[in-house]
Amino acid sequence: MDRYAKQRIFLGAEREARLRSKRVAIVGLGATGSVIAAWLARAGVGHLTLLDRDIVETTNLQRQLLYGESDVLRPKAQAAAARLREANSGVELRPVVADLTSGNARELLTGFDLICDGTDNFEARFLLNDLAILTGTPWIYCGALGSEAVVWPLHPPETPCLRCLMEEPPASGDVDTCDSAGVLGPAVGVAASWAALEAVKVLAGEQPHAELVRFDLWRNERQFLKPPATRCRFCAGKVTEFLEARWSLRASRLCGLDGVQIRVNPPGRLDLENLQVRLEARTGQPWKLTELALSGSEGAWRIMLFRDGRALIHGDLTPERARGWYSEVVGS
Ligand SMILES: [Zn+2]
Repeated sequence: MDRYAKQRIFLGAEREARLRSKRVAIVGLGATGSVIAAWLARAGVGHLTLLDRDIVETTNLQRQLLYGESDVLRPKAQAAAARLREANSGVELRPVVADLTSGNARELLTGFDLICDGTDNFEARFLLNDLAILTGTPWIYCGALGSEAVVWPLHPPETPCLRCLMEEPPASGDVDTCDSAGVLGPAVGVAASWAALEAVKVLAGEQPHAELVRFDLWRNERQFLKPPATRCRFCAGKVTEFLEARWSLRASRLCGLDGVQIRVNPPGRLDLENLQVRLEARTGQPWKLTELALSGSEGAWRIMLFRDGRALIHGDLTPERARGWYSEVVGS
């Protein structure tokens, strides 16, 4: 028996074999992305691009099933690829450590049969939706928060798009898995396994479930929402505002934590070795340099600068103050 025998009995030889020629991008390798990636790699999907901007942190291990304690501080995309390679060496894996923005989305996410949402924020999802509208690539929305799970396979213009349901990202901020809201690991597993199953349908050439499914697994609730009957002006007219957005630097408060995140667009390539010398001179303290990031302190702030230009500044400060620090130290 070969490794896909059980799957082939279920799908049939022809549909099953289709998986081997498919290219899938998984955007975000956190809680949901980990589970989606694990199922698709084990199912033998031909190529997986694994895109994530972050490193593994201890607080991720409660629910991000691809990582172990020895992965802490490694880039998630690389740790995920290493783990998945052990699970299935026959899958082509391409880890990409990058922050998805309007400036690099086309370059990073063109040429796929399917894009899976493993993100935790609406800014990224509206970018994925725009890409789907522009390129005709199907994508699967997947979210989990608290004990809730939401999954919705989308393929505009054949189906509605995300903006047909929700015209703009929620005003509450760009992050929905806010640290203050919390999340249960098994709820994430249900959301992501549901999304992975819909992905297998799409890749095998079948129709995914058209409705948005929402579970509240703590309260034992399940709803299917009928997709909107009419198309919004964005997918109907191929209007991709989020992909067209031009901005160079954004500073926003970290959800549920004291601190600010700075993102640059398009992501660049910082000379962290040079910055280490300058920051050590500026602060009079050692800074720690890894392949991906430079971290250290200035006064009461704890700062992490990523090679792609992103920065996390933890401490009591405003986005304006963080922006000022960044311009002074890194340049704008
Ligand atoms: Zn639409």
